[in-house]
Amino acid sequence: MPLAPGNTRAAGPVVPGMESAARSVDVVVIGAGQAGLSAAYHLRRRGVDDVAVLDAEDGPGGAWRHRWESLTMATVNGIRELPGMPAVDAADEEPARHAVPAYFADFERRSAVPVERPVRVRRVEDDGRGGLLVRSEEVGGAPRPTLRTRAILNATGTWSRPFVPSVPGAAEFHGRQLHTVQYPGAAELAGQRVGIVGGGISAVGFLLELEDVASTVWYTRREPVLRDGPFTQEAGRRGVASVAERVRQGLPVRSVVSATGLVRTPALREAERRGLLARREMFTRLTPTGVLEADGTETPLETILWATGFRHELRHLAPLSLHGARGGIAMDGTAVAADPRILLLGYGPSASTIGANRAGRAAVDALLAGWDRRREPSR
Ligand SMILES: Cc1cc2nc3c(=O)[nH]c(=O)nc-3n(C[C@H](O)[C@H](O)[C@H](O)COP(=O)(O)OP(=O)(O)OC[C@H]3O[C@@H](n4cnc5c(N)ncnc54)[C@H](O)[C@@H]3O)c2cc1C
Repeated sequence: MPLAPGNTRAAGPVVPGMESAARSVDVVVIGAGQAGLSAAYHLRRRGVDDVAVLDAEDGPGGAWRHRWESLTMATVNGIRELPGMPAVDAADEEPARHAVPAYFADFERRSAVPVERPVRVRRVEDDGRGGLLVRSEEVGGAPRPTLRTRAILNATGTWSRPFVPSVPGAAEFHGRQLHTVQYPGAAELAGQRVGIVGGGISAVGFLLELEDVASTVWYTRREPVLRDGPFTQEAGRRGVASVAERVRQGLPVRSVVSATGLVRTPALREAERRGLLARREMFTRLTPTGVLEADGTETPLETILWATGFRHELRHLAPLSLHGARGGIAMDGTAVAADPRILLLGYGPSASTIGANRAGRAAVDALLAGWDRRREPSR
């Protein structure tokens, strides 16, 4: 679908009733990763065609377009097929950043999901008349005409919101600090002393990858939980359920891995045996040349790799004030409890490819059920 011509109106606060949107659609899907594509597919299947799907990337693939080159189809956790599609068919050694975008492109062609890109949504506002206004711009270009809509299926992922904890001395460190999103590959860190921070899958992956070329020290806030496999569906369900319960209560989101722990795969068991996974307590501060350990000793480091996770990308929803007193957004399934016009996909318990798929379908079900209820005559 060709992009609509942009206009030059600056995005500013809306005077209720004064905004004349250039285009009205029933639903806006924001983000075309696994979650957004799944939602767009189910909308189409259920006969909702008056939809705009907006995505900030230059092409298909969502955040997979940005994963590092050495994250291959063999080293990812497992990528669930998109609805109506066979599984990703790629060689083990193929980088996920190539295989998955090619797969998404195939899906978009086959299912004729019309994604408008590269378009970034800047603000979503209440129009004061029961609808929502979506203000966006072409990435690196002009603002686009405002969209008016009845509902938002938000599927903007986390990749654009890397999280680095605040640690004293961070500005004094003369070495390099990189977040997971900036991981340059093992070759660039060869011969260095690298501190890897974080207790999740990415941190462990970096330890394994750098083992032969760099000297690594692993720092985590808590003792990492490695669970003996196989990772049962029941354990997965329990982990997802505990994250879902937190978002139901409006508490800040935790990652599913924080609830399930890491699986002690044969590769990790071997790594433990070699002493690679001997973690240290989180350092207390950075110094110009390294870090100050919890026991007061100083460890020299040239690079600190922050594998400290992400926050959900929801900044464009800030005008709607969805966060509550408990620090998170209280959810009723995929819908925001206080504003069921907004559905969050790939959020909290659905932040995985399987979760994103399910959330896409569940969100469309919930949305249409809500519309049906409103059409029913009052008794
Ligand atoms: C390193 C890493 C490895 C992972 N490996 C796996 C794995 O193997 N298996 C698994 O199940 N999960 C994995 N995950 C979790 C993964 O993030 C999810 O499974 C899934 O890919 C997320 O899909 P999504 O659609 O929610 O988000 P994304 O793929 O991030 O898509 C979000 C889209 O929204 C767009 N967007 C963001 N903001 C805006 C805006 N304001 N306006 C317009 N568009 C916007 C983005 O450009 C992007 O295209 C991994 C995560 C990381 C960080």
